[in-house]
Amino acid sequence: MRYRLFDLPDLRANEPDPPPVSYGRRVTARNNRLIERGVNPGSGRRLLREAAPACTLRCKDCTHTVPTGRNIKTYWKCAKNPRGMTRGLATDVRLKWPACQLFERRRTDVPSESTAPEEDHATPEEVPEDALGPGR
Ligand code: SF4
Repeated sequence: MRYRLFDLPDLRANEPDPPPVSYGRRVTARNNRLIERGVNPGSGRRLLREAAPACTLRCKDCTHTVPTGRNIKTYWKCAKNPRGMTRGLATDVRLKWPACQLFERRRTDVPSESTAPEEDHATPEEVPEDALGPGR
């Protein structure tokens, strides 16, 4: 039995519960923070636009985007992700994300499920030399 000198009011009784934040929203928020800091969440590499602000290349233009998923929805992964291509949400890539230092141009413009990754390189005019980091 607990003894108290006096009853304390429950100070949190009238506070509303915080809204539930799903795992997906937390991952999206983390990815947005990384992009704001100049890092592509898919590969963990610096964005090309950090060195060349006019660079408009996206992950959808990159040959390393790999479609996964066998049902209706396609989930895009980055073949250069150091964590590998898991089945989880945390390694998904958004095609609209700005390209990173490991970018290599895809031959077809719009990726589709039937598009196999192809080996090709961006032209030197599109990717400045100083945009390529030391890990390249
Ligand atoms: S630009 Fe290419 S290598 Fe870089 S994160 Fe996107 S898909 Fe991966």
